[in-house]
This record gives sequence, structure tokens and C-alpha cells, in this order.
Amino acid sequence: MLAQQGYKTPEDIGSVSTVSNSVQVVETLTLKELTEKTSTDYIKRNVMCFVTIKSVEVGDSWWYYGCNFCHEEVHLLEGRYKCVNPKCLKSSPYPEKRYRIMVLAHDKTEAVNVVFSDRALKRLVGKTATMLLEEIEDLAETHPCTLFPQQILDIANKDFTFNILISDDNVLINSTMYNATDAYLSKKSKPSTSETVEEILESTESGFREVS
Ligand SMILES: [Zn+2]
Repeated sequence: MLAQQGYKTPEDIGSVSTVSNSVQVVETLTLKELTEKTSTDYIKRNVMCFVTIKSVEVGDSWWYYGCNFCHEEVHLLEGRYKCVNPKCLKSSPYPEKRYRIMVLAHDKTEAVNVVFSDRALKRLVGKTATMLLEEIEDLAETHPCTLFPQQILDIANKDFTFNILISDDNVLINSTMYNATDAYLSKKSKPSTSETVEEILESTESGFREVS
């Protein structure tokens, strides 16, 4: 599991900066520019990247049991689901199934691994991980090989606008595994008109509002 590799879900890494009603300026970077950000000023900053998802990493499970308090992964320990987050460590009697997948994303400049937040995938797939898992289980009775849902695999080879939350690791140890707090399907592969950019900014803001 990703959590065992020291991965944290984007929601847990830091709170997204408060969004006022005024227009928020989110810096747009190419992936190469993103990987070159080594200033600590960029830690916990949100940036926008226009990318294509090359593939979905299917090696890991696409969901995990999340802590009811902090959303970090819980592990079954002596009959209880206990949070692995050292700052939390609470028990969740009914942990929530949450999405977590990794994709390989690229633009013309670079390719990086991006982990999707539960929120981003929930909106792209149009249902919660619990709902999708129930569907898969129903399907599995007749189609035993549907372990990784097609609805998730379908995001490959499409263009997206990612909201990336830059982590400590991205800046301090040049980790190229990034966290997408949100992802929006692009109508055009390259926004060329100001109208398109405004649409993206609008959807970005509504995405941020969901965080609080
Ligand atoms: Zn927790």
C-alpha cells in the first residue's frame, strides 16, 4: 500500500489556504517547472498543471480504509481499526472506504507520478469508493476478473487540469510523486483562450471550497 511507502493523502498533508471571495491567483506550471521548485516557499502551495494521464498504476489497491477523524489509513490491530497517523492514532469503529490511486501524468516537458485524492476521484467517477466497490462486487459474481474498476482505468489517455499541493518531500528531497487535491477533465487539450482559463479558475475555486 502507498501508506506503507510513507505516502500521505493530500488532505492530510496540509490545509489548503483560505479562499476568499476575491479571485484566487493559482500559478500554472509545466511539469518540468514543478519539479524544479526547490524553494521552501513552495511547500504546501497549490499550483495548476495541464497534463495528460498516460496510465493508471494498477499494482496497488484503488481504495483504502480511512480514519473517520483525519482520513489517514487505518490498520486492523487487535480487532480495532487504528489510525496510522502518529498525530491521531484514534480508533475508527466504522472506517470509511476512500479512493487512492496513482497515475503517471505527463506534458511536453516531463512525466511525474501523481496521487489522486479521494475527493478528486469521487467527482471524476461520479460515485464514492463504497458505491463503486459494491458495483464491482456485484459484477464479480458474473465477471470474476474485474478487480480494478474500468471507470477508474478510463481516466487514462485524457487531458486534465490538476491542482497540485506541493509537499515537503517535493521540495526538500526532490520527490517526483505529487499529490492532486483535485483534477478536472479538460475540454481542450491546451486552453488557448482566456475564456477557458476563466472556466478552469472557476471550477478550481469551487473545488477549493469543498476542502473546508
Ligand atoms: Zn486518524
